[in-house]
Amino acid sequence: DHAFKGGQPIARYHSDILADARRIAALDIDLRNALATQQFFLQFQPQVSLLTGKLSGAEALVRWRCPDGTVMPPDTFLPYAEESGLIAAIDEWVLSQACHAARRWHDSGMRLRISVNMSSARFAQRHIPALVTRVLQETGLEPRYLDIELTETAVMHDIERVGSDLASLRSLGVSVSIDDFGVGYSSLRSIKQLRADRLKIDRDFVRNLAVSGSDRAILRTIIHLGHELDFEVVAEGVETADQLTILRAERCDEVQGFLFARPMSMPDFMAYAQRFCASGDCHAG
Ligand code: C2E
Ligand code: MG
Ligand code: MG
Ligand code: MG
Repeated sequence: DHAFKGGQPIARYHSDILADARRIAALDIDLRNALATQQFFLQFQPQVSLLTGKLSGAEALVRWRCPDGTVMPPDTFLPYAEESGLIAAIDEWVLSQACHAARRWHDSGMRLRISVNMSSARFAQRHIPALVTRVLQETGLEPRYLDIELTETAVMHDIERVGSDLASLRSLGVSVSIDDFGVGYSSLRSIKQLRADRLKIDRDFVRNLAVSGSDRAILRTIIHLGHELDFEVVAEGVETADQLTILRAERCDEVQGFLFARPMSMPDFMAYAQRFCASGDCHAG
């Protein structure tokens, strides 16, 4: 606070900006290094169909194992990667790894879908449909088993440009999910412009479902609206049996959350899926 003496807050402000810039530059170097030396890894969280009771797929979620052994969740580093532009390379790495993983499930007889999150940053500029085409070719995964998740905010931010990429993806046979639905700023009017297959209801609406009548009313309305507009509706963040009972009663199509499983390593997910399939609840062969 030395800088504030003599009515000179600008100096302090300036040094804060420099400190921030240095920290971000250092983090950017760490992230580039992490990508080059395979410090990122994926976990897989099951998605279960309430219509069939079967395992329908998994969402791939990225983590960063730092050299000191700490595992960083995506919210702690992806915002910086978005700012520096490195997110494009990370998303590409995730997409490729995730499709390889799904291909391995298929090779062992489990026809499961893989959902991959894509950052909005530069969605239109990065030629996502071309990238997806290349990765599908490289991995031999059938397009209908790949699902691309984009947040509602990302899509609505630039509906014209993102929308045309979404249409291209869907014409490849890949499905598209609108993530964190309900917390962004879609107007009711703009929802019909969404060229997507699924709405993923944000966990904010699921959290208090069993205790809040108004949350249940909102959820029911989103599901109903989604179905009227031909979307499948997925609920995320399902943690309790009570929430599940309500989601089933309100005809939600799919669920994902700690009630079923936390995000898991590839071997753990394979074992989980095999147990699911052994009980007949799997989209096999
Ligand atoms: P998201 O796509 O909405 O993913 C769901 C998040 O909710 C995950 O957090 C997951 O671990 C967490 N979750 C799942 N079930 C439950 C539950 O029952 N209770 C609670 N409390 N949480 C649950 P995570 O893995 O920390 O990811 C956070 C966000 O980071 C993701 O939100 C997604 O927006 C982003 N993200 C993750 N992986 C990637 C990636 O590979 N690329 C991009 N661009 N974004 C990613
Ligand atoms: Mg997601
Ligand atoms: Mg989500
Ligand atoms: Mg979310």
